[in-house]
Amino acid sequence: MNIAGFQKNSFVDYPGKIAAVVFCGGCNFNCWYCHNRHILHGYDAIDEREVFSFLEKRKGQIDAVVFSGGEATLQKDLAEQMRRVKDMGYLVKLDTNGANPKVLSALIGAGLPDYVAMDIKAPFARYKETTGVAADIAAVQKSVSILTGGQTEYEFRTTCVPQFAPEDIESIAKEIAGARLYALQQYRHTDTEHKISPIRLAPHERAFFDESRRLARKHIENVVIRGI
Ligand code: SF4
Repeated sequence: MNIAGFQKNSFVDYPGKIAAVVFCGGCNFNCWYCHNRHILHGYDAIDEREVFSFLEKRKGQIDAVVFSGGEATLQKDLAEQMRRVKDMGYLVKLDTNGANPKVLSALIGAGLPDYVAMDIKAPFARYKETTGVAADIAAVQKSVSILTGGQTEYEFRTTCVPQFAPEDIESIAKEIAGARLYALQQYRHTDTEHKISPIRLAPHERAFFDESRRLARKHIENVVIRGI
């Protein structure tokens, strides 16, 4: 596994649990605001033996391990590594952009992730503006159906970039109507984004989130706001 980063303790990455976070190198998207741009093309920085030795020592003190990225589903041995941490007694969470429904389905079929957080980057018709690539929308939609039709706990989440209006969030909510949980996350500036977009746009104020949640709740009962 290409491990580009490892966070030993997090109180925000697994709902209600203390988690360690494994950041996998490489991603098939190129979101302009990405906070992990330095690992998008792979970055084999951390020896997995270090990670597992830490997890071995912290059994009972940490509840869960999150496989994040980059895009974790690009890792060929993801299932194997999830199995390893599960066998150690940890809960397992996957963070994904949803572009690999076959991998997602196989992981769920094998009973590996206990929780999946999937990004919905934009209304489907506007994915390229955010992801910077001609994303396979049918694949993302398939991942949405896998999660909404399955038994694994999950959430969808959207980083609310300054270009979005509340109506864009409502469009997304319609496209994932009936979801178990939809999280609206605040966008934060990154230093690297200005190489892609020279315009520094201000993050949304609270009023945007309140209105977005009001509109999204027409389609999804449980809508939460994070980071503001
Ligand atoms: S999907 Fe996530 S890791 Fe990949 S470019 Fe977008 S924000 Fe970065």
